[in-house]
Formats: sequence, C-alpha cells, structure tokens
Amino acid sequence: MENERINLLGLDAAALSDLIGQWGGKPFRARQLQRWVHQRGVDAFDNMTDLARDFRVQLSERCSVQALPVGTEQRSSDGTRKWLFDVGQGNAIETVFIPEDDRGTLCVSSQAGCAVNCRFCSTGHQGFNRNLSTAEIVGQLWWARRVLEADAGSARLPAATGKAAVEDPRVISNVVMMGMGEPLLNYDQLLPALRLMLDDNAYGLSRRRVTVSTSGVVPMMDRLSQDCPVALAVSLHAPNDGLRDELVPLNKKYPLDVLLAACNRYLEFAPRDFITFEYCMLDGINDTDQHARELIQIARQVRCKLNLIPFNPFPESGLKRSPQVRVRVFAQRLMDAGIITTVRKTRGDDIAAACGQLAGEVQDRTRVAERRARTIPITQVSA
Ligand code: SAH
Ligand code: SF4
Repeated sequence: MENERINLLGLDAAALSDLIGQWGGKPFRARQLQRWVHQRGVDAFDNMTDLARDFRVQLSERCSVQALPVGTEQRSSDGTRKWLFDVGQGNAIETVFIPEDDRGTLCVSSQAGCAVNCRFCSTGHQGFNRNLSTAEIVGQLWWARRVLEADAGSARLPAATGKAAVEDPRVISNVVMMGMGEPLLNYDQLLPALRLMLDDNAYGLSRRRVTVSTSGVVPMMDRLSQDCPVALAVSLHAPNDGLRDELVPLNKKYPLDVLLAACNRYLEFAPRDFITFEYCMLDGINDTDQHARELIQIARQVRCKLNLIPFNPFPESGLKRSPQVRVRVFAQRLMDAGIITTVRKTRGDDIAAACGQLAGEVQDRTRVAERRARTIPITQVSA
C-alpha cells in the first residue's frame, strides 16, 4: 500500500545505503539513487535510466519519493515565494524562498505549530500540532528546488550544488531553519535532514550556509555541535531573564547565563566564528536605551552578530513594531559599543511570508492566545 512505502526523502546517506545493502546492492547504487532523487529531483523510478531494470522495479514496489501535498503557492512583488503544505487535520506549514542579489535562501519549517509559545510569534499562538518527519523537512527543499529550476528552465541554471550555485539568486544556496517550529525540539528528525542538505550527493550546501535557529534548547545545542555543526542563530529577544521569561517562556528552563555558556561551547565546533543573535524589536517592550545597555553586556560575553528583526504584527499579539527611528537608534547604540549589528529587511510582506507570520490562517487548536491573554503581564502596549 502507498502509505507503507519507504519515502526516500527521509533517508540520509547512511540509512539509504543500509537499505540498499539489505537488498544486496552495492553502496554506489545508493549514491546514484540519491543523486537522482535530490540533485535531479526525479520521483519516477522508471526515469532513473542508469539504474538496472530489476532495481527500478524493486524501488517502484517498495519506495516512494514524496513531498507533502502543496496547498497554495504565492509570489510577492519582491520575488519572494511562499508555499503552503498540507500536513493533515486542517493544519499547514510554510516554506519561503527569498532571492537576494548574491544568494537564494529557503526558509524551512521543522514542526506544525510550536510548543515554545513565544509571545510575539503567530506560530506560537497556534500551539503545537506535530513534529515533521525528515522526509517532510527535506521535502520542502526538494519541492522548492524542483519548482525553481523548472521555472528558470533547467538548461540555463548551473548545477544546483557546488560553488556555481552560491552566486546565483535563482537557486537555493542557503537554508535557514526559521520557518514554523522549534527545530531543536524535533532533533531526531532534523539531524538526517541537515545531513542531506550538506551531502554532496544530495543538496551539497556549505555548513556555513545552513542555519539552525533556536529559541535556546541548550542540551540540543550541545548535541548539534557534535553531530552536525552548522551555522547557529539564537533567538534572544530580551537582554534580561525577567523579560525573556515573558517573551520566550523556554527561558525559565534555560536562563540567559546557561544559554550564553552553551553558545560559547557551540562556537568551539561551529563552522562560523560567531553566533547570530536574533532580536525582535517590540515597541516599548524591549527597545529602550536601558535594554540596549543590557544587550551590550550580553553580547560582549559571546562572539556574535546581532540581527534586529522589525516585529511583524498579527492581530492576536497585542504588540506593536518599534518605530523605524527607534530601531535605528538602538542599532547605533550597539554599533557604537563595537557590536556588529544588522537590521533584517522584511520580505514578502504582501503575502504574509515574513518571520512569525507563517500559516496565519491555520486554526488555533489549543486556544493558547486566550490563555496567554489572561496570564501574561505585559502591559506597556495596548492591542
Ligand atoms: N523556533 C526557532 C525558529 C523559527 S522562528 C526560533 O525561535 O528561533 C525564526 C525567527 O523569527 C526567530 O528569531 C523568531 O523569534 C522570529 N519571529 C517569530 N515571530 C516573529 C514576528 N512576529 N516578527 C518578527 N520575528 C519573529
Ligand atoms: Fe516557536 Fe520560534 Fe515561534 Fe518561539 S519564535 S514560538 S520557538 S517558532
């Protein structure tokens, strides 16, 4: 039956060569198959012309290559593209492609919903629905690359792996795990997906160009540093424990001193010599001069770059975006203190593809928003 087939999108090199080994096949067969599936985006085994006929028949009987079904696709006037994938039971996840001058970045989801419940995040407001499987995580990249290459006309595109792709904004050169969900709370499914992103027989991305973004799941940061060190972004959002407890509730479990120590441990193994700290600018909540002073003290404890993200509002949050001039002044304070600071450009505004706006239509299954409205004591900002 269809749902009992092994979805090859979910197998990293080791798992695929195990499978082919069990069938009596040689490891190079597994590599060949990997290239057909991930590099060429082929899902019909019959079209994998240099595989032996018997092998193709065996594959057709037992395996599939299947991404999640696509609900909708939208294109922004700035070139950003967003796909909504159906994960069943009325839930959806999103994947966003952001072309820039010198790169193409795919923003990938790791979970349907999220249990961390950050105050300013629409995914958090939806509550947790379920973890994505490795195949569902990799399937986002597989799908997006197939569509982008088909659109551009594959003849005109360089091979999608390796150096040529890096300079070409039409192909995916970077992946950021910044879609829906907390990737490090879905570690077992994430890890093979990251390995496939880096694998030369699959997507061949540089580990410096694959970024895991986390709200600070400390034990899993340590595991990632050993299992598959890629670039790391840490969602800070507050410069002291009191405020961070409210904005990112996971802080109660892993407070700032514990988190900063984990960042420093990670740096010993990281492919880049800095951690990116993300800081969502919330009007009157975390954007004052006092917050800037505290943030400078935090940033001095870790080799880091600060990325200020203008808050993308959604109705239930009751929060407001910091005015542009406040963001500029805040950034200047940090830069004056010698901290490398950038302000994230908001992309895909017209299709709600910006950070924290993903799958805005998905139903609020757990009424998190209501509960939160009763319990969280942020009063500086009116809805
Ligand atoms: N769960 C992970 C990754 C997904 S969120 C994490 O929290 O890091 C990716 C980034 O978008 C995080 O830095 C997150 O804090 C930020 N974000 C979430 N909601 C946002 C919003 N409404 N406006 C701006 N940034 C937001
Ligand atoms: Fe989850 Fe990240 Fe949103 Fe927090 S910001 S609720 S960790 S997806």
